[in-house]
Amino acid sequence: MSNRKPFNDRAGYIASKINPLTNTSNVIYIASEQGIDSDKKYVTVCEAHHTMISSASIPLARIDMKDASKWCKDCQWVCEREEAIATRRWQ
Ligand SMILES: [Zn+2]
Repeated sequence: MSNRKPFNDRAGYIASKINPLTNTSNVIYIASEQGIDSDKKYVTVCEAHHTMISSASIPLARIDMKDASKWCKDCQWVCEREEAIATRRWQ
């Protein structure tokens, strides 16, 4: 997958961080400027899986950005699978 585009020229861009589970960025946007219908002002997007979570403030969005496995089901699955492999390795 070549999903490593810069995201900082997109509308409503706030911040991004590489998600170690996907090697693709999690990106915070202002929802309205990105054209996303959201109950809260900001959204954090898992660009690898196109899932998102809304946040009321940037500090909360930054917490979501750092750990997509908390809200992206696909990332959670990757995370659990890696933990299972790591556990097996030490048995
Ligand atoms: Zn994900």
